[in-house]
Amino acid sequence: MTEERMSFRAEVSRLLDIVVHSLYSDKEIFLRELISNASDACDKLRYEALTMPELTGEDTDFKITVDADPKARTITVADNGIGMSRDELIENLGTIARSGTSAFLEKIEEAKKADLTQIGQFGVGFYSAFMVAQMVEVTSRKAGSAEAWSWHSDGKGEFAVEEDDRTTRGTSVTLYLKQGEDQLLKEDTLRLIINRYSDHIALPVYLNGNDKPTNRAAALWLRNKSEITAEQYKEFYHHVAHAFEEPALTAHWRAEGKIEYTALLFVPGMRPFDLFDPKRQHGVKLYVKRVFITDAAEGLVPNYLRFLRGVIDSEDLPLNVSREMLQHNPLLAKIRQGVVRRVLGDLNKFADDKGAYAGFWANFGAVVKEGVYEDSEHREELLKLARFRSTHGEELVSLADYVGRMKEGQDAIYYINGDDADALARSPHLEGFAARGIEVLLLTDTVDDFWPGAVDAYLDKKFKSVTRAGQDLSKIAPADGEKDKTAAKEEAPASDLSSLIALIKLALGDKVKDVRSSDRLTDSPVCLVADEGDVDLHLERFLKQHNQIRTPSARILEINPRHTLIRKMAERAKTGGASSDLDDIAWLLLDQARLLDGETVTDPQGFNRRLGDVLTKVVFAEEK
Ligand code: ADP
Ligand code: MG
Repeated sequence: MTEERMSFRAEVSRLLDIVVHSLYSDKEIFLRELISNASDACDKLRYEALTMPELTGEDTDFKITVDADPKARTITVADNGIGMSRDELIENLGTIARSGTSAFLEKIEEAKKADLTQIGQFGVGFYSAFMVAQMVEVTSRKAGSAEAWSWHSDGKGEFAVEEDDRTTRGTSVTLYLKQGEDQLLKEDTLRLIINRYSDHIALPVYLNGNDKPTNRAAALWLRNKSEITAEQYKEFYHHVAHAFEEPALTAHWRAEGKIEYTALLFVPGMRPFDLFDPKRQHGVKLYVKRVFITDAAEGLVPNYLRFLRGVIDSEDLPLNVSREMLQHNPLLAKIRQGVVRRVLGDLNKFADDKGAYAGFWANFGAVVKEGVYEDSEHREELLKLARFRSTHGEELVSLADYVGRMKEGQDAIYYINGDDADALARSPHLEGFAARGIEVLLLTDTVDDFWPGAVDAYLDKKFKSVTRAGQDLSKIAPADGEKDKTAAKEEAPASDLSSLIALIKLALGDKVKDVRSSDRLTDSPVCLVADEGDVDLHLERFLKQHNQIRTPSARILEINPRHTLIRKMAERAKTGGASSDLDDIAWLLLDQARLLDGETVTDPQGFNRRLGDVLTKVVFAEEK
């Protein structure tokens, strides 16, 4: 029989290198990874056999064996699970299927010291065998298949496949140990490693032919909470989530009564790389009475909790439930309700630990806010969980913090949308708010363009974008330190102002929807705002980028009646002198406001000419 040699895909070689040399601090976890794979393989076959019992035949006792051969210096981990065909051996062990791998590797290389624990998400557990093995051989017979295949590699760029004479179903992974790894051949060592890392595995793990399993061989989630250590929870998380870090939160509960299920769910300690990828994998596995059914149960967990990892084991669903039948299943919807209630409650408690919660929010806040938009039933609770950057300082604030600090006369929660919180904090739109000590939330996630519009109010306080017209700031007194600043500067007389406003309107025509005097500004002469019913500025830019709208709606130009330039212009407008100069300045002011909002000028040539004219006049005036 001839073997066929093949090269690892480029990204596999690079990943292999990272896994073998820098990923794990404990080499012994290779065993956990191989047992974890064996367990997954048995879970998969058990599910397939529900509808095709011929796949398992007589051999329905799923198990995992670990055998050391001191003479040959090998360790073999074997299972009677689903097995792999020739193509699957090549595909699963020779390529990295998950999209985004190359991009991720580039990021690592750029950052040099990137957090390597993220790598686990790409499915590299198998490669950890090469930490202790100079050669790895895999033989496998896929359930229901007449052929068997073997795969072997030294983990250095190439692997080989050939036909194999194996007769039993399942997979065996044999490690030919490197020099210096002989302690792994001792039964006591292996038993210790299995107990430490694989005790949670629900299948029996038999060591060196012993007829008593080394592990407890009972589903971890069915044990009493008091019998499970933090370490065991963590190891189970690593197994179900293919993760390497500590979970941020663990929730383990049993629902009894009308519907019965057990859930063991984790909030990851880091953000999965594909959180926003539509092709992302689901993270919560559905079991029915201990039998794995699917890790892609649509609707088991709402979209906005898609970062959850773990297991839900239902007592009520029929074992022969097909994955298709699961869609729109009312029992699943009930379980989802329970999950949402429990997880939101736990997150609410978690929020007391400000530091840790800030980490959670940085990872998943943008996703949770999708829930504010989508799930009106839990909106109130979700808003309670939300944290924001604000003009109040660096620390994240909750809406309760915000409402507690609202000024007398203030009846709305003010926010501004943009791409960058620091830039937003300097926006002229905020000047009048700052002068009155009114806090403004700085919203920078894409989803922030959508949810405020869907939310009616929080504690009866409406959400209002500061880039919208109609903010009545005159009702709120300026903050102490700011009082002088606003009071010292006199407003232009009303009659002068109305002449100026008429003149600007005439000059700018349909480029603006309206021109109004405003309390919003203290230092800047003008800014643009959206009309009450119009699309908010930042959202409009977003929609334009995504080709959702062509022509943006005209904005309202707000002018600052206390600004020296505006006062002088108003004076001039009344006397009616040199109105073409005023026209030019009106255009320049409009363009200035647009630039500050991150837009382009209305008409670059016109802008150049006007700016040139104005500058010439300044220089000319100085010479005189
Ligand atoms: P992950 O388990 O995160 O997917 P691994 O590197 O551990 O990544 O394994 C890669 C893939 O190889 C698995 O997803 C599975 O398809 C396949 N595989 C590994 N071990 C086995 C096994 N014992 N039986 C069947 N398939 C296996
Ligand atoms: Mg694995």
